[in-house]
Amino acid sequence: MTPSIGRVVVLLGAPGAGKGTQAQILSERLGLAHVATGDLFRAAVRDETPLGVTAKGYMDRGELVPDAVTIEMLLERLAKPDAEAGILLDGFPRNTAQAEVLDKALGDKGGRVDVAPYIEVPEADLVARLGGRWICRAGGHPYHELSKPSQKPGICDVDGSELYQRSDDQPATVQARLRQQLGALDTVVDYYRGHDVLRVVDGQQAIDKVTADLLAAIAPATGSRG
Ligand SMILES: [Zn+2]
Repeated sequence: MTPSIGRVVVLLGAPGAGKGTQAQILSERLGLAHVATGDLFRAAVRDETPLGVTAKGYMDRGELVPDAVTIEMLLERLAKPDAEAGILLDGFPRNTAQAEVLDKALGDKGGRVDVAPYIEVPEADLVARLGGRWICRAGGHPYHELSKPSQKPGICDVDGSELYQRSDDQPATVQARLRQQLGALDTVVDYYRGHDVLRVVDGQQAIDKVTADLLAAIAPATGSRG
């Protein structure tokens, strides 16, 4: 039996876990269409598809686009030629309600979520990655404590002006924002664990090691359906 829908991979990870980077690499290696819901909205609105017009109405009124509309867009995306082998979802579902709607919609088309790899990174590590941004007062030159420290602490390499943190980048703010996002992510992780499709990958490793582990986690499901 040929499934009417290709493979559906849901890539999970907190902000700062490297999900976007890995999604790019994995979709290329596996020949899956990389589908980030933000891009989906932008494309539908730009192309003025019926769903795009509907979505834009909500966005123009400052309302959230309903899950049903998002799911319809996803299903349209799944029907495009480049998604024949399947899609890699990046940034959706964001909560269990969306996960349930997605399962229902895929099930109606004879598909399902095949595997949900989760790039796991401890909270303290995420805070260090997401916070740690400093910029200089004179020219706004950006630095990062981990990936791009200034030569002299607190001083811009370019113009010698003082470095400061925007309130958005201060550790307490970063942590508070992250906690909210992690709460929702945890419920989605639990949902897919309960459906036996979750595969946890250690996100504290080097990027290429994370990629290798993700490929190993995703690959065994290939062609096993039907
Ligand atoms: Zn500077």
